[in-house]
Amino acid sequence: MSSSSSDPITTYGFTAVPASASALLTSTPAYPPPSTPAPFIPVSETPIPDTPLAKRIQAYAREHLPEPTYNHSLRVYHFGLAIKRYRFPFPSWAFTDETYFLACMLHDIGTTEENQRATRLSFEFQGGLLALEVLRRRPEAGETEMEADAVGAVGGIATREQTESVAEAIIRHQDLCEVGKITAVGQLLQLATIFDNTGTHADLVHPSTIEDVSKHFPRQKWSNCFAATIRRENSLKPWAHTTALGEEAFPNKVLGNKLMEPYE
Ligand code: ZN
Repeated sequence: MSSSSSDPITTYGFTAVPASASALLTSTPAYPPPSTPAPFIPVSETPIPDTPLAKRIQAYAREHLPEPTYNHSLRVYHFGLAIKRYRFPFPSWAFTDETYFLACMLHDIGTTEENQRATRLSFEFQGGLLALEVLRRRPEAGETEMEADAVGAVGGIATREQTESVAEAIIRHQDLCEVGKITAVGQLLQLATIFDNTGTHADLVHPSTIEDVSKHFPRQKWSNCFAATIRRENSLKPWAHTTALGEEAFPNKVLGNKLMEPYE
């Protein structure tokens, strides 16, 4: 859904919504009503944005992320748009697919082995900072197109506000608060990542949608892979923000994801 509005708050997903997912889901005037089951929304109905910027960042993600993480990032995109269409079809949630896509592609960029060891920052914070850089990156003077391409600098450049919305969503994507507000695009990223990782709020996505998305972007034992990433982060950085989700409880929840078990 591309917004014709020039209001950056709406276009880039800065609309403030409750941070508590359960409060949001119970309070949102739902259309269609929540008693209507989630509709089947195949991957073909939530296409990847056909823009130079989306293409550049997708290529960057494909280049830098291990395949299971890249596939997870694409599932988060399609699950998120399915959730949005079902539960948040509101004008205030009409941020561009491109903004959400960029957030999905880069949200776990801080978990790569190289990036985890490059900094003492928690992975989401480093990911947000990397996003600020990569989304605004232009080829530098004296840099060949090939050199620029290697760091993702060829193609569309995000505006400052779009970049900041994406960075904010990445930094807060594991910040599951019960109090306060978050951006709409940040809330959708939280809902969709937690959905793919733990199966929470299973009723937000039709089982056939889960099947179709998992067929296009196979999990390749994602639960084991992500649980190992969580444990590596927490052992390299015992102060990491990921510990806020429970040092044992969170990886165990990921490993106990019953909803996605048939597709592991
Ligand atoms: Zn993730």
